[in-house]
Amino acid sequence: MGTLPHDDDAEMFGNRFAIEEVPTSSFPTGGMSAVDAMRLVGEDLALEGDPARNLATFVTTWMEPEAQRVIAANLHRNFIDHAEYPRTAEIEQRCIRMLADLFHAPGETTGARTQGSSEAIMLGALSLKWNWRKRRESAGASTSSPNLVFGGDVHVVWEKFCRYFDVEPRIVPLKPGKYTIGPEDVAPHVDENTIGVAAVLGTTFTGHKDDVVGIDQLLVRLKQERGIDVPLHVDAASGGFVWPFLYPDSPWDFRLEQVRSINVSGHKFGLVYPGIGWLIFRERSDLAPELVFEENYLGKTDATFTLNFSTGSAMVLAQYYNLVRYGRHGYTYVMRNMQLNARVLAEKLQAMGRFELIGADEEQLPLVAFRLAEPQAYDEFDIAWQLSAERGWMVPAYTLPPDAQDVTIMRALVKQTLSREHVDTLARDIEEACATLDKKGGVHESERRKVVTGSGH
Ligand SMILES: *Cc1c(COP(=O)(O)O)cnc(C)c1O
Repeated sequence: MGTLPHDDDAEMFGNRFAIEEVPTSSFPTGGMSAVDAMRLVGEDLALEGDPARNLATFVTTWMEPEAQRVIAANLHRNFIDHAEYPRTAEIEQRCIRMLADLFHAPGETTGARTQGSSEAIMLGALSLKWNWRKRRESAGASTSSPNLVFGGDVHVVWEKFCRYFDVEPRIVPLKPGKYTIGPEDVAPHVDENTIGVAAVLGTTFTGHKDDVVGIDQLLVRLKQERGIDVPLHVDAASGGFVWPFLYPDSPWDFRLEQVRSINVSGHKFGLVYPGIGWLIFRERSDLAPELVFEENYLGKTDATFTLNFSTGSAMVLAQYYNLVRYGRHGYTYVMRNMQLNARVLAEKLQAMGRFELIGADEEQLPLVAFRLAEPQAYDEFDIAWQLSAERGWMVPAYTLPPDAQDVTIMRALVKQTLSREHVDTLARDIEEACATLDKKGGVHESERRKVVTGSGH
């Protein structure tokens, strides 16, 4: 290999991987210098998408520099080691109490820090299952066929829970034009084997809420008239940090009698980097005690209620930073800004005359869900592709769940960093992408190397 520069030159002038292939499969033998390793990883990531133009994800892509300092200073702390890090454990409990207060818990309660809403939902639904089994056993009834009722508008994690933990999913299908569920949808599916009903606050598909109030009323009636006590869990992964600030008078939380547990993702509208989520119970007794394990191998007897064990504590601290930094006023300010910018984007899309908005006049997450008003030579997938190819915006197109699978929509999240100027630019770029597609009559298969799809959870 006499034509390759000598290793000494690479060491002197820069970068091994300017001309060398990077290790990808066999376990490296000799390792490399720290600088080389850093550059190798950095160069790979230079090809990644730009988070600021990723309007698909609900997850936080920006935090304040001061928050980033808190995170950087605490990456070496294992969250689960409560014996060694009791202050971190205390801060977790403060977050749980503050969220329980935000969600109107009637008194002292309990909860858990999780990796995200998925873990929170697994744990919350397990508690539903255990409590249901106890109710059945004390009534001398069969415990062989638990079921869980939810709409087709939920996140995939609910079906995952049912499969992993052997519960029959009773899924209410959507319909064209109806993308959330209400009591009339739930009623036919609920019986004495129902461990719970799950309602969504801020769906991933269109950002709306299920009729939580109506479902709660149905379950209260069921309890009064037939003596069947079915708990309601609210999946507030996105909505739990939006509704309290944008729609404080709209009840969906522990103000409603049958709402027994709530999950929320700190890393969505809680404005923290991934992964942090929360599970909050209405009362201590809503957490099945059999699911809490006591262990003492980290030096002190400690109770754990988690699917994971070791994990970082930085995001718990970052969540606490945000709660005290923003408070109700700050979160309200940030949420209103997002909502205002979402409305501007919605108005601009409507003014183009090509699109119709999905439920823009209802309570909704700060996003714009839209679709082509009339059939064109191109579809929403083509627009998503063209927009990404021309301008690097990730605005996903996707089909809705059954039985609304023939409906394709697009969705743009309007987050904290999407400024008014960005909104104006995005609207112009969408108009231009459509103009290009008008001219060429759609995206050609040969162009569509990569279909922009997925609802970007
Ligand atoms: C994002 C989301 C989830 C999953 O949450 P993670 O925090 O990503 O695990 C569950 N339900 C809904 C409604 C969501 O939006």
